Amino acid sequence: MGSDGRDTRGNDTSLDPYVKLLLDAMKYSGCAVNKERHFSCEDCNGNVSGGFDASVSQIVLCQNNIRNQAHMSRVVTHELVHAFDHCRAHVDWFTNVRHLACSEVRAANLSGDCSLVNEIFRLHFGFKQHHQTCVRDRAILSILAVRNISKEVAQKAVDEVFESCFNDHEPFGRIPHNKTYARHAHRDFQNRDRYYANI
Ligand SMILES: [Zn+2]
Repeated sequence: MGSDGRDTRGNDTSLDPYVKLLLDAMKYSGCAVNKERHFSCEDCNGNVSGGFDASVSQIVLCQNNIRNQAHMSRVVTHELVHAFDHCRAHVDWFTNVRHLACSEVRAANLSGDCSLVNEIFRLHFGFKQHHQTCVRDRAILSILAVRNISKEVAQKAVDEVFESCFNDHEPFGRIPHNKTYARHAHRDFQNRDRYYANI
């Protein structure tokens, strides 16, 4: 890492590894993210921390509810997972609740949303079981925050897609339980890129 915050490859090392990987993956998929164009800082209602506005492909960061840098990185990561899903597949965000449910499961699973609590709860419960329960609960809450549907409908949608969406770890290739996992996932992603570039 250089003193200007760049490593030997010229990457900005001040960025969180989760964010770095997702930005690279977006670029690789043909959806390069531009800070000015794709991010918007706003005051939000309630305790919402962020959102992805699919109609304009913009990530909203709630400046009044984001508490610190670690929280900011988690919110950006969560929303970038939605942006990545939006980029790679035709997601029917507004009329198909199962599509939304799938992306919420992935965002909760891959963003580290469930990692902090994991550290505390894995002493009491099985690590794997707790992580899955946390992902499921958070996905349901996220859906209820943006859709005017009953809890039962949201639960049903999440349960229907859970198995396949929980096991879809793209672009991380694994569940990045902490920054070390995320850094390894980023390195693998860069190597995957280089491997194909050399063929
Ligand atoms: Zn979300």
